[in-house]
Amino acid sequence: EIKASSNFIRNIIEEDVKAGKQSKIVTRFPPEPNGYLHIGHARSIWLNFGMAKEFGGDCNLRFDDTNPEKEEQEYVDSIKEDVRWLGYQWSGDVKYASEYFDQFYEWALHLIKEGKAYVCDLSAKESSEYRGWATKPGKDSPYRSRSIEENLLLIDKMRKGELEEGSCVLRAKIDMASPNMNLRDPILYRIRKVPHHQTGDKWCIYPSYDFAHGQEDSIEGITHSICTLEFQDHRPLYEWFHENLPVPSKPKQYEFGRLNLNYTVTSKRKLKQLVDSGFVNGWNDPRMPTVSGMRRRGYTPASLKTFCDMVPVSKSNSVIDVSVLERAIRDDLNDNAPRAMCVMDPLKVVITNFPEGEVEDMVAASHPSKPELGERTLPFTRELLIDRSDFNEDSSLSRKKFKRLVLGEWVRLRGAYIIKANEVVKDESGEISQINASLIPDTVGNDAPEGIRPRGVIHWVSEKYGVPAEIRRYDRLFNHESPDQGDEDFMTYINADSLSVITAIVEPSVANCQAETSFQFEREGYFVADRYDHAAGKPVFNMTIGLRDTWAS
Ligand code: ATP
Ligand code: MG
Ligand code: MG
Repeated sequence: EIKASSNFIRNIIEEDVKAGKQSKIVTRFPPEPNGYLHIGHARSIWLNFGMAKEFGGDCNLRFDDTNPEKEEQEYVDSIKEDVRWLGYQWSGDVKYASEYFDQFYEWALHLIKEGKAYVCDLSAKESSEYRGWATKPGKDSPYRSRSIEENLLLIDKMRKGELEEGSCVLRAKIDMASPNMNLRDPILYRIRKVPHHQTGDKWCIYPSYDFAHGQEDSIEGITHSICTLEFQDHRPLYEWFHENLPVPSKPKQYEFGRLNLNYTVTSKRKLKQLVDSGFVNGWNDPRMPTVSGMRRRGYTPASLKTFCDMVPVSKSNSVIDVSVLERAIRDDLNDNAPRAMCVMDPLKVVITNFPEGEVEDMVAASHPSKPELGERTLPFTRELLIDRSDFNEDSSLSRKKFKRLVLGEWVRLRGAYIIKANEVVKDESGEISQINASLIPDTVGNDAPEGIRPRGVIHWVSEKYGVPAEIRRYDRLFNHESPDQGDEDFMTYINADSLSVITAIVEPSVANCQAETSFQFEREGYFVADRYDHAAGKPVFNMTIGLRDTWAS
């Protein structure tokens, strides 16, 4: 049984709600549209949207789009789609940090007029020398003492595009000796003469993350600004802006640990590298830990929610074993996916005592414990296909070890007759090309008669009515447990054999299913009809996960 984990953020919100601190809680999920969402983002979505839902509040979807070079509309669209697919709805319209650029600029002027910001001409290199390091106080920039008038003139020139990119920045005047590096006169604005996917050519200066984020939260009346641990050291700056600007509200920031998975990478930059390298087929390749990749792989929103419920919200970053995620989807599909039969490596079986050209429709439940999932028809014909690995000529194999078909013995065909293998036909190379078998009458839905002992139950498909299907099986994308922590570049740990494609034969009832329908192919694993490539009559299935955790040692 899956247990809900501890969540210190929930405890904080619960206390605030009890104490009546806010009339309604408001959270936000603030992705930068510079890539597709990954499992770590799903975690943040689960937390931000989940808390708002639980406490009757709102959650905004806000694009933190202050960095136009790396951002694209494609990413904006995919993020919206992924959030919806995960089952969440943002409050009101989607928000963009760029909607507030006018306001940010006014606030920058406000700081300048208060003597709390200045235009600095130091180069990036000089600037970092002046900044010093944690154990060494920095030095004031020679431009720190510029007059308010000069600063106003220069910021106006910056905004109008009259100054070169990189020639100067706007900085807050805080404390060059602060032990917190973020307070050593942080950058508020940079010149970037690039068009923006939302604001076009309107701006050629863009605010820094720090100058934007807390003010976005304030404008939107965010009550609990939940972010990851790396922003803990930014919190004093987040609060400094709220203290020094005429902001409409003063949100509080809370940090929690990033979620990482082993055997993969969760960083948009690295995922983009995988995409750009061409090793995977795009951001939504089923091997990718992206939300759209997992969707295409057959993960369900419910399984991702279960996964997030299982992992504690902690104050340190953690690496979660991928088997925890796999268990969540396996349990979901075990409960909910209809069963079907798919023969991966077909071997022909001829039922010699079944008339040629005749069809007997077998009826099987789609799920062993969910009658509401209905039934399906399995046409039984003289010529059938079973999996090559389900037959062995060697009758000395122990019944315990080999619960399948053996020459001279019996096996039950799932949902159909018990059959006996009588004869093996081989081709010139000595490979088995056909088995001649006979069925035992009256064994459909009935126990085996006296003296007939089937070794087990195997799956099968009618040769005539089975439909060829492309089957894509996946292995881990990396063969290193922590690819970004190894001695070499993470790309060197790519598993070259992470995809294999075969043609298998599926029972006719699944061949016309809708894209994104999941099945348990009995004895094989869980598969989903590919979101893009599957078509009725031309099935394509992606393997989601095996029946059992084969990785556990
Ligand atoms: P990446 O390094 O993958 O680009 P990011 O933090 O830069 O991640 P953002 O688009 O800024 O990506 O993320 C949006 C939100 O999702 C942020 O609040 C961020 O803290 C959160 N988030 C990102 N990655 C994770 C993770 N691995 N675990 C939990 N939350 C995450
Ligand atoms: Mg970020
Ligand atoms: Mg990032």
